[in-house]
Amino acid sequence: MRSLVQTNAFIDGHWIPTDKRFVVTNPATGETLAEVADGDAAMAERAVEAAHKALSHWREKTPKQRADLLRRWYQSMLDNKQALGELMSAEQGKPIAEAIGEIEYGASFVDWFAGEAERCYGDILPTVSNDKRSWIIKQPVGVCAAITPWNFPNAMITRKVAPALAAGCTIVVKPPQLTPLSALALAQLASEVGIPDGVINFVPTTQAKEVGEVFTQHPRVKKFTFTGSTSVGKALMEQCAQTMKKVSLELGGNAPFIVFDDADIEVAVRELIACKFRNAGQTCISANRVLVQESVHDAFVEELEKSLATIKVAPGDADEVDYGPLINKDAIDKVEELLKDAQQHGAKLVTGGKVLTELGELFYAPTLLTEVTQAMRIAQEEIFGPVIAVQTFTDEAQGISRANDTPFGLAGYFCAQDYTRIQRVSEQLECGMLGINAGAISHAYNAFGGVKESGIGREGSRYGLAEYQETKNITLGGF
Ligand code: ADP
Repeated sequence: MRSLVQTNAFIDGHWIPTDKRFVVTNPATGETLAEVADGDAAMAERAVEAAHKALSHWREKTPKQRADLLRRWYQSMLDNKQALGELMSAEQGKPIAEAIGEIEYGASFVDWFAGEAERCYGDILPTVSNDKRSWIIKQPVGVCAAITPWNFPNAMITRKVAPALAAGCTIVVKPPQLTPLSALALAQLASEVGIPDGVINFVPTTQAKEVGEVFTQHPRVKKFTFTGSTSVGKALMEQCAQTMKKVSLELGGNAPFIVFDDADIEVAVRELIACKFRNAGQTCISANRVLVQESVHDAFVEELEKSLATIKVAPGDADEVDYGPLINKDAIDKVEELLKDAQQHGAKLVTGGKVLTELGELFYAPTLLTEVTQAMRIAQEEIFGPVIAVQTFTDEAQGISRANDTPFGLAGYFCAQDYTRIQRVSEQLECGMLGINAGAISHAYNAFGGVKESGIGREGSRYGLAEYQETKNITLGGF
């Protein structure tokens, strides 16, 4: 199989080395995978200039020409999905099958937005007076800048880059320090299929703050898009204010997963497991608080325990793995700290709650905690690990108010069968995305994004393209 390992920055179609390098490791083994160029603020400026230089040529292409190139990039990702998946699994830890799933998922945004590029319409407005006509055209925002996290090393990039390119924008990307190889492999494929130089640029770095300052403050950058923690997102949004950039922010969540007394318990357990253990619980839409109506609590926990006993934890390249290692020691420490705090405040550990040392220091057991309360840290912070923390509630109103009792509003989930309840609860939960009897809700056709402190803007769907477009109202007089 061909190698897709690139270790230098990618600017204006060229691979740019640096003297200073940083190490990328395999979290399952601790082994060094590569030493990657460590970009700095000057390199970030160079990338922005390259994107600026490429902009006029790219935006002048017809939507069809841009769509054709995006489809070639999409096809190339699929053709190389095995190699891309193995690379991702090695640097990120997720099982190879799940990593290949992410490549397909990531590529699907490129395909979707290739289609959207060709369906980008303006509007003819009602006539205000007989001597005038007004209409709206959509135009690319301009140079975009993106900062992405390590939990989805491919898809977090494609769902920003694909709509940007579809709209006629060029882009600079700072991939995460922990998983730059998946990002640079995407650059290689983009270059091979003929996406013009400077349209996509990648600046790997350990100097996130310095590079982030260039991306958020450079006057040539018109749009900044970020996925990561709420605290960093807030700081970056503030930095963008000086030049009034458009922003899209996909930030942290604290997703409730509510099991009402009319839920099908089997479905609830199955969907919770699908939702919770994807990427070992390291996703921003993982169920963080499991709220179970008192009357079905014992039956639910009993079923859940049975299912947890079947979960297989192993290195990502083993067979039939449910999940692999957490990303690093900090992630393990965070999970243990939250568990300790919860237990000190009265939560009960039903199963798990330990590092699986026989596998390595970053593998954590599937964990079930009951008697959790809303005041505990584990119910207020993102766990980002394979821990199910169960609380109870008495009736529908209390379930909803508990679920909404958080500054976050990314995903929410609930299980119920009564259709009037489904309607009522759907309208009242404060979140950007809702799964009803469904724990897997991400798709390129869907609008991904949050309300409250979980962010601004949407990715995927037709709304995802609008994030990279300006709306220009034109009035023609003299009739
Ligand atoms: P996570 O917990 O997912 O790592 P972060 O918000 O820390 O969340 O990181 C998400 C992305 O933001 C990463 O690419 C990281 O390098 C980058 N990042 C972190 N701090 C800053 C900062 N001060 N300025 C710019 N980028 C940052």
